[in-house]
Amino acid sequence: MKVAVVGAGASGLMVSGFLANSGHDVFVFDRNEKVGKKLYISGKGRCNLTNLCSPDEFLKNVVRGEKFVKSAIYNFTSSDAVEFFENLGLETKVERGNRVFPKSDKSSDVIKVLKEKHCKNVNFCFNTKIDSISKTEEGFVLHFDGKKELFDRVIVATGGKSYRSTGSDGDGFKFAKMFGHKVVECVPALCPIKIKDKFVKTLQGVSLKNVTLKCSFGDKKKEFFGEMLFTDDGISGPIVLSLSSFINREKDVSLAIDFKPALNEKQLDARLLRDFEENKNSEIKTVFRGLLPKAVAQVFESVVKIDGSQNVNTITKLQRNDIIKFLKNFPLEYGGLYDLDAGIVTSGGVDLNEINPKTFESKLQKGLYFVGEVLDVDALTGGFNLQLAWAESFMCAKNFS
Ligand SMILES: Cc1cc2nc3c(=O)[nH]c(=O)nc-3n(C[C@H](O)[C@H](O)[C@H](O)COP(=O)(O)OP(=O)(O)OC[C@H]3O[C@@H](n4cnc5c(N)ncnc54)[C@H](O)[C@@H]3O)c2cc1C
Repeated sequence: MKVAVVGAGASGLMVSGFLANSGHDVFVFDRNEKVGKKLYISGKGRCNLTNLCSPDEFLKNVVRGEKFVKSAIYNFTSSDAVEFFENLGLETKVERGNRVFPKSDKSSDVIKVLKEKHCKNVNFCFNTKIDSISKTEEGFVLHFDGKKELFDRVIVATGGKSYRSTGSDGDGFKFAKMFGHKVVECVPALCPIKIKDKFVKTLQGVSLKNVTLKCSFGDKKKEFFGEMLFTDDGISGPIVLSLSSFINREKDVSLAIDFKPALNEKQLDARLLRDFEENKNSEIKTVFRGLLPKAVAQVFESVVKIDGSQNVNTITKLQRNDIIKFLKNFPLEYGGLYDLDAGIVTSGGVDLNEINPKTFESKLQKGLYFVGEVLDVDALTGGFNLQLAWAESFMCAKNFS
């Protein structure tokens, strides 16, 4: 069969290689001059290509579309992905949190084996932006550069709408709508969070380790433990990115940092009393600096409304309670997420109710398929999003007809 794949990113490369290797005549179109521009910058240039955990564990990290991708994730597991890449000659290594990277630490090596080995039988058409797709009795017509070309099948692998400079600017949603598909509103996921408090600027670049970011929205609560950092007008880092994927459709969001998650209030009180005893003739800021990074300690003084030059031995019980309260619940005023382009992935996309999860074929138009980030599926960081692209593409190719 003559198959057009629109998009030469992670999912487009994967599906086209599988189909070409099983005898189909596959043409991959990309508006860019080369393959895998987003793959190249993935994992800070190291490409965290999957997460070596069980399928059940994997599915816990899928934020939207968990049920829809279950079959794909069981059919092409992260171990299968590692084996697949190793068979192509890519050596891999596993790091903290089961994250798999190429041994060379170079995303370009992942791209190289995909293009040169897996896709050795694929026809590439670069610098070709597909403008529209239509259907006639003869098949699907791709429109580009004022030309038309006929295909038996079309696979849309155009990605989401974030990091648009890599080529994914939402064209896939336009194509889906041309065939009557619903597209769930797109919002950023794995995205930094804006904070309204003015003090944030003074903390730019400060990172916090082993803290808990607490969040409540509506009647729900979420907490993430780990590392975060302050930017010029907000917060970022692993726990912030993870949290963003759960609040990206919420308006009424409250945020707070627990600086001492390992201690409950009683234990923290005991720790403070010890610190006070050791520093009884010092200023309270000495104690704050022992508990928090210096820049944060300065901000803390103003939030807790205690003058840093106050002598430790004059701190009242009421003030001590306030210190505990704010160490456990330091409020940040939520200012929303950054725009869609800033999200590492796009949340939203082609409505899953209209796609067959075994074949990734449209339920509205036979012969039309959607794989990868163009679908309303997203997951947390750790190699999960690329694994989704690999697994969906595998399923699509395996059950292709
Ligand atoms: C900075 C960053 C780091 C990331 N790191 C990781 C990581 O380490 N691990 C992980 O699992 N995930 C990571 N991700 C997410 C992961 O890269 C994506 O989920 C994945 O690349 C999506 O693959 P895709 O094939 O669906 O889309 P894409 O990779 O975005 O590919 C879509 C392709 O379609 C082409 N295209 C779009 N429209 C048209 C058109 N009209 N005509 C022709 N071509 C078109 C684009 O040019 C593009 O090449 C990261 C994302 C970013 C932005």
